[in-house]
Amino acid sequence: MIRLAQASPNHGPRRGVSAPDCVILHYTDMLCPEGALARLCDPAAEVSAHHLVAEDGRIWSLVSETERAWHAGLSFWGGERDMNSRSIGIELANPGHGNGHAPFPAPQMRALEGLLREIFARWSIAPERVLAHSDVAPRRKQDPGPRFDWRGLARHGLSIWPEAAEPRGEGEILSDPGAILPFAARFGYEVGEDLGRNGRTPPDPGGHGPQTPIPEILRALRLRFRPQFPCEALESPADARDLAILQELAFRWPSA
Ligand SMILES: [Zn+2]
Repeated sequence: MIRLAQASPNHGPRRGVSAPDCVILHYTDMLCPEGALARLCDPAAEVSAHHLVAEDGRIWSLVSETERAWHAGLSFWGGERDMNSRSIGIELANPGHGNGHAPFPAPQMRALEGLLREIFARWSIAPERVLAHSDVAPRRKQDPGPRFDWRGLARHGLSIWPEAAEPRGEGEILSDPGAILPFAARFGYEVGEDLGRNGRTPPDPGGHGPQTPIPEILRALRLRFRPQFPCEALESPADARDLAILQELAFRWPSA
C-alpha cells in the first residue's frame, strides 16, 4: 500500500458526534485520480473525502479522520441526516457510469481492504456500517455502482452480504410493492412517513425535500445487492427477491 498525504482545505469539525461510526464509499466519476485529487482539494469545489484510492493502489489521505469531510451531501441513514459528521468518506478512482462501468482493479481493492482494516482498528465501526453513497442518497447518487464487489468485501469481514442475495433465479413481482418499506426503513433507507401502498411518499413537511419513494430504494438496493440486475431496469417493480433481501438485512443488521 503506497500512502501519500495531500491536505484538502475542505473540512470542518464534526457536529454532535466526537467520532465517526460509519464509512461511506464513493467513486470519483472521473477519468484519472489526479483530476479527482485536484477537485477534492480545490476550495472552490467545496467537496472532499478523507481518503482517495487510485486504481493502482496508491492512497492519498486528504482530511484527518477526526474532522468532518464534505462527501455525502444531503443524506440519510437509520434516522440520521448529517452523514458527513458520522462518517469517513473514501473516494475510489473510477470513471463511473458515464464512462462504461469500469471494474475496480485488484490493487485498488487490496488497498481499500487494508485501509478499512486500519479504520476498523482506529474507530468503533461495524461491517454493516460500511455504506454506499447510493444507500444514503438514493435519489441523487448511484456510486460506487454495480461493478463494486461488496460480496468480496464481506468475505473479508469488511462489509455485509445477505444469503438471500446469492443468485438463484428471479422472484415473482410483488402485488404490494409497499411491503418492502418497513424492512427498508429498519435496515436504514429513508422511506418517509407514509408507509402507504401507492409507491410514492408525500413531500416532507420538515423541509428536507421529497422523501425517498420505492423506485429509488429498489435502485439503491439492486446496485449493491443484485449486481447482475440489468442497469436499464433498476427501478422496475419490486419482486420477491428484493423483499427477501430486505427482510434479511432488516433482521440481521437493523439500523435502530
Ligand atoms: Zn459519491
